[in-house]
Amino acid sequence: MKSFKLAGLLALTAVLAACGPFGGKAGNVDGKRLMAASTNGEWLSVGRTYDEQRFSPLDKIDTKNVGQLGLAWSHQFDTDRGQEATPVMVDGVLYTTTAWSKVYALDAKSGEVKWSFDPKVDGSKGFDACCDVVNRGVAVWKGRVYVGTLDGRLIALDAGTGKTVWSTQTTDNSKPYTITGAPRIVKDKVLIGNGGAEYGVRGYVTAYDAATGKQVWRFYTAPNPEGKPDGAASDKIMAEKAAGTWFGDVWKQTGGGATVWDSMAYDPALDIVYLGVGNGTPWNHLKRSNGKGDNLFVSSILALKPDTGEYVWHYQTTPGESWDYTATQHIMLADLTIGGQPRKVLMQAPKNGFFYVIDRATGGLISANAYVPITWATGVDPKTGRPIENPAARYKDAPSLQLPGPLGGHNWHPMAFNPKEGLVYIPAHAAPFAYVNIGDFKFKPGGWNLGTNFLANALPDDKAQLAGLKAMFKGQLIAWDPVAGKARWTVDHPYFWNGGLMSTAGGLVFQGSGEGEFAAYDAANGKKLWGFDAQNGVVAAPSTYEIDGEQYVALMVGYGGAGPVSASPLLKDRPRLPGRLMVFKLGGKATIKPFEVAKAPALDLTKISAPGDAKHGFALYHENCQVCHSPNATGSYLPDLRRSQMLLTADNFKSVVLDGALKQNGMASFARYLNAQDAEDIRAYILTEAAKAQASAAPVKSAP
Ligand code: CA
Repeated sequence: MKSFKLAGLLALTAVLAACGPFGGKAGNVDGKRLMAASTNGEWLSVGRTYDEQRFSPLDKIDTKNVGQLGLAWSHQFDTDRGQEATPVMVDGVLYTTTAWSKVYALDAKSGEVKWSFDPKVDGSKGFDACCDVVNRGVAVWKGRVYVGTLDGRLIALDAGTGKTVWSTQTTDNSKPYTITGAPRIVKDKVLIGNGGAEYGVRGYVTAYDAATGKQVWRFYTAPNPEGKPDGAASDKIMAEKAAGTWFGDVWKQTGGGATVWDSMAYDPALDIVYLGVGNGTPWNHLKRSNGKGDNLFVSSILALKPDTGEYVWHYQTTPGESWDYTATQHIMLADLTIGGQPRKVLMQAPKNGFFYVIDRATGGLISANAYVPITWATGVDPKTGRPIENPAARYKDAPSLQLPGPLGGHNWHPMAFNPKEGLVYIPAHAAPFAYVNIGDFKFKPGGWNLGTNFLANALPDDKAQLAGLKAMFKGQLIAWDPVAGKARWTVDHPYFWNGGLMSTAGGLVFQGSGEGEFAAYDAANGKKLWGFDAQNGVVAAPSTYEIDGEQYVALMVGYGGAGPVSASPLLKDRPRLPGRLMVFKLGGKATIKPFEVAKAPALDLTKISAPGDAKHGFALYHENCQVCHSPNATGSYLPDLRRSQMLLTADNFKSVVLDGALKQNGMASFARYLNAQDAEDIRAYILTEAAKAQASAAPVKSAP
């Protein structure tokens, strides 16, 4: 009897040892726990809390001691593509994702890998990803870890083992849908959207039962092209408000766009979930909708009931959107005092450059002020909530250089809130773009369908002109006062595409930057208090957590996210480097090994002949290649084509461009769009760029 009891006790102890402090299985998060003050030391969802403020109440690292922050540990991943995830920390385990939708669970104190999961996304799916094969993180709920994969699957993993519990295909994979955003979980429903609006898809968001993976509801964000109901939660509002705002037939071919590819938030008291909706397809409203109509719900913030997907309200930031001005940017909820009154607000800094403060119960506009220089509009009418447009911005009769461009005044990079300062920190940038109308629009299935001519955005050869262009690109950390509607302070960055943000009760704001410095700023005044050379560009946002009385700060390091933004003439001339997870604590003494990645040597061009038409190749390149490989083949998160061995012979080049030899890396065959002569013309063009680069006086660094 006694030995039986002892054996039972030992077994019980073993079970408890395998459990987290909440006594359950690993990753046992639910809505109550997400909202409990007792979880202040954790980071339970990508935005930390349902209001997505990305503010941690932890204050062990503060303005006085942050200078002692050092590396506690780091982990290097198997990919050099962009790293956009925010690590989630539950019960001492960090859950994060890397490029190609891979998931990792690591001991948050030691960095030991507990498990990893590779969904084995077909490399050719990379062709459908407008902006790198990135992933922005997981959701953790009741012992499971949820990830959306680039090929449109939603997968539930056992949080303790990483084994697949269920997997469901959320998209039609014959179409160029992708998932890069993190799922959010509300009331046992996993919410997931998708991307693809540069190519041509019809956007929607779906709620799946967290336990079984069964679909609960779906809400379409653009009308059914056949004009019939979908049997979806959106049917009623689509018929009442949205369908009549679309004109012509082009959107029926392209699907119209309006994808929900990133932001979501939830207000448990109002029981409303908020979603950010993206741009239309094609971008050009003149082509998409005959230049008529608002095109709901393109570029809108949508408020829905989480149980049913029932429509509550919408606010369209850019009616008749024509510039890739998505409203998918970070949605943040807060309670502010405005005009002496407590207001429950929703805040967003969408691509269009206005910072919106909206009543989140009704969708009514409270204020909209420009947070970056804007040329397309002069303001927002406070009565109608509609922008006051500069008519030339619609590029009907003449090309139009606009700020912001398609990269926005702010992109997906998360903002952060600090309730003590009453500030929203915005990772903002200025990146102009020349919008050029095209003649007839012809839908190119599977390819980019923008209705604008990209040629005008090729980089100038002239050095002074290039320098002038570079000077127009700016990156800033803006501390925005949402009540006053203006910046309280700003920090200028050397590069324009920088990392997401986090703020803490220690009076700090953390941000990594394009040139590779991870820094902490005083939340009150923007003074830089600490910096660390991460050796690689940062685009992700950090998270923070506490274990055994010590506060940690975690950051995914790895540049990428969009071809042109990582083009070397606009950024540091560095080789592509593998992604890393870096975790910091006070007094941390760990070091990172220098990256041992040599830049590909310059080609010997002396014996190469390329009889193709380089001028025609230039045009074809900027139509077909530049969105991933950068204007003028200047390199990006993808290999520098000017140094590629495949340039050496026409056969090698053709094997990749037309025969798909590298399709597993995401370089699919372009045989649908290009013939052998086209390929040879593009090769001739890239060779001229290679020769130009070699003749340039700029010394080429072999490693950072
Ligand atoms: Ca877009």
